[in-house]
Amino acid sequence: MKLNILVTAGDGIGPEVTNEAVAVLREVASLGGHEFIFPERRIGGVAIVHDGSPLPAGTLAAALASDAVLLGAVGGNEFNSLAPEKRPEAGLLQLRAALGGFANLRPAFAFKELAVNSPLRPEIIDGADILFVRELLGGLYFGQPREWNRSTGEAWNTMRYTRDEVARVARVAFSLATKRRNKVTSVDKANVLEVSQLWRATVTEVAQEFPSVTLEHQYVDAMSMHLMNQPRNYDVVLTENLFGDILSDESAVITGSLGMLPSATIGGKVNLYEPVHGSAPDIAGKGLANPLGAILTGALILRHSAGLEAEAVVIETGVRKVLEQGFRTPDLARTNPQDFTVFTTTEMGKKVRETVKTMLVNA
Ligand code: NAD
Repeated sequence: MKLNILVTAGDGIGPEVTNEAVAVLREVASLGGHEFIFPERRIGGVAIVHDGSPLPAGTLAAALASDAVLLGAVGGNEFNSLAPEKRPEAGLLQLRAALGGFANLRPAFAFKELAVNSPLRPEIIDGADILFVRELLGGLYFGQPREWNRSTGEAWNTMRYTRDEVARVARVAFSLATKRRNKVTSVDKANVLEVSQLWRATVTEVAQEFPSVTLEHQYVDAMSMHLMNQPRNYDVVLTENLFGDILSDESAVITGSLGMLPSATIGGKVNLYEPVHGSAPDIAGKGLANPLGAILTGALILRHSAGLEAEAVVIETGVRKVLEQGFRTPDLARTNPQDFTVFTTTEMGKKVRETVKTMLVNA
């Protein structure tokens, strides 16, 4: 199969981790007889410096012409004094809006080898495997009216959804649940908010189209507690923009490091893939960045933009095998580095690549 994956590596550790993700994808392509190409374009701070804009027109055009976009991260301390609309992060927000993805997928998977890095007890998180499906284009972050009226000392935002906006993201969640453990937990605040009552009624209606999937509803306040007490109970968690932002970050503790988390935004013109972490200026250029979140993001490209599920699973299993063998980047070996082989970014990428190669050759 042919795939044009635009790489917008961005700033800080973005180029370091995307290099490793691309190298793994190249390995998968060459062994599977696939033709993947990886054109590169600038975004974020590096684009401000070279092109005078955080999202140059050429980057946007290339993104819209691609099959998938792989983003590293944007941002840097030297841009912090710029107005919000001129900062590196503005480029990413513009790109997300232009690509139009409305369903943000964030897997939170507990690698048992990393349990020691989580503040939760190993027996609580062992086996946890949650896929958050967060609505990304509606709700409180976009609803009108919104204002801070400084003269009256009032401010307001609006949590607004239409039935269609809820139904389309619910269909994504149910459809993904059919490929996993057939359970959707929809999270709202329907005991208080009318917008959540619409959310709950619509999700319940969409559930009729997916008879194999069990649907349960949870209030967001209770859910934030259940996720920490019994994360293994959840498969696909479907929720609106604000609640999803909060719950998916909370669940990052299950995985033990920010550097492990991949994400995908689907449903728009072109899917956008990015590790959850930022540009980490504190460790940029030092070979300390964990590339596993970016490499796992590559697996999501194979799953959601290429239909190569088996190959996606090979990458995910490859990452697990490398952890099982005791290889770590520094963020994964903070408490007990003496127990592991601690790798640089490129060494970790190479180890995953070799492991994936062995698995594919022997498949
Ligand atoms: P961050 O995610 O960059 O870093 C938070 C902490 O986690 C840091 O200590 C960092 O060293 C560590 N970390 C992050 N990724 C890591 C990895 N792969 N391996 C090892 N350690 C890792 O968040 P921040 O410090 O709040 O933000 C830094 C910059 O990144 C800011 O300019 C911010 O706006 C930007 N940012 C961008 C994105 C994005 O591009 N999607 C997301 C979040 C933050």
